[in-house]
Amino acid sequence: MTEKKKAAAVPIAIEGLTKRYGAAVALDHIDLDVRSGEFLTLLGPSGSGKTTLLMALAGFVRPDSGSLRFGGVETVCAPPHKRGVGMVFQSYALFPHMNVAENIGFALRLRKVPRDEIARRVDEALETVELGGYGARSVAQLSGGQRQRVALARAIVFDPGILLMDEPLSALDKKLREHMQVELRRLHEKLGMTTVYVTHDQREALSMSDRIAVIHRGKVMQIGTPGELYEQPANRFVADFIGESAFLPIEVRDGVACYAGRPLRLQTGADACRDKLLMLRPERLSVMTGEADADMNVFRGTVSSLAYHGDSYLLQVVLEGGASISVRGVCRGHASAGMPGKGDAITLGMHRQDTVLVADA
Ligand code: ADP
Ligand code: MG
Repeated sequence: MTEKKKAAAVPIAIEGLTKRYGAAVALDHIDLDVRSGEFLTLLGPSGSGKTTLLMALAGFVRPDSGSLRFGGVETVCAPPHKRGVGMVFQSYALFPHMNVAENIGFALRLRKVPRDEIARRVDEALETVELGGYGARSVAQLSGGQRQRVALARAIVFDPGILLMDEPLSALDKKLREHMQVELRRLHEKLGMTTVYVTHDQREALSMSDRIAVIHRGKVMQIGTPGELYEQPANRFVADFIGESAFLPIEVRDGVACYAGRPLRLQTGADACRDKLLMLRPERLSVMTGEADADMNVFRGTVSSLAYHGDSYLLQVVLEGGASISVRGVCRGHASAGMPGKGDAITLGMHRQDTVLVADA
């Protein structure tokens, strides 16, 4: 089997990139560095500007202002085929009248690469995406997953330093999508090209990325590793978008941070609490049975519903302060016997070390 070698990965520096469509701002002064060989995901809701940003990187969207450097070279005005960028679209965009090999070799033919070299590189790309021997097949004969692999082979066949992918797995069913997530990640490790990946699926972003940039209304809300974004979200939008969370308003009374009149045990002083919310992730709360130690925050409430998931259960609890929150418990052995029921009074605990404050934005 022929193995593709690692490409020379190229870092991307984006500065002040702005794109308007009429009055609508699709990209609002985007500053973003993508490191050489990194797998960076743009994560955001529909309409947040992810595709526009990717198209600006590929050269299909001309920004109104800002700078874009690939490997230190200003690229904002370069035409798409001079950027050394491979691209995989959501819709595959394969040519239906060409077979698999012709689809993959298309960009090389445009570049006037000799025929025998095209054949060799197409075979190599097919091997890389584990479709060896599929070159003569018609695109119509392929499954969704196979088409996506062909689209990927076409994007990598000319050894680009940068690979851009726009929601490439969104048309696949859940099982195939999860399989392809692992495959894409493995391919990235093998080829090592700088990769910018777009998704609106937070689980996909968490499981695949070296770093994630959360995009909202054309702005970068936060950039960090999956762990940083989940554990230390900068604001309510990021906390809500990545994972599930409830947020408690914090009152400061006589210099003490409180919720519903009870003092909170936080990692910071009351001064740092202004305009902040306490983030409550469902798995960071525990159902308390015994005495709370001095570092525990204690919340009292009533169970309003319960969903049993086999390996875990999810409670909805209305706290004494009126907030409605979710609590996840893990079922171990005969746990279902000890599970709280609807209408039960319940005491929840969260350790001081698990308290995270987020800006209310
Ligand atoms: P995403 O990929 O995150 O869903 P897009 O980048 O496609 O978001 O769109 C960002 C914003 O720009 C949206 O409000 C969208 O309606 C607008 N937009 C994108 N492309 C165009 C276009 N060609 N003409 C006008 N508005 C556009
Ligand atoms: Mg899009």
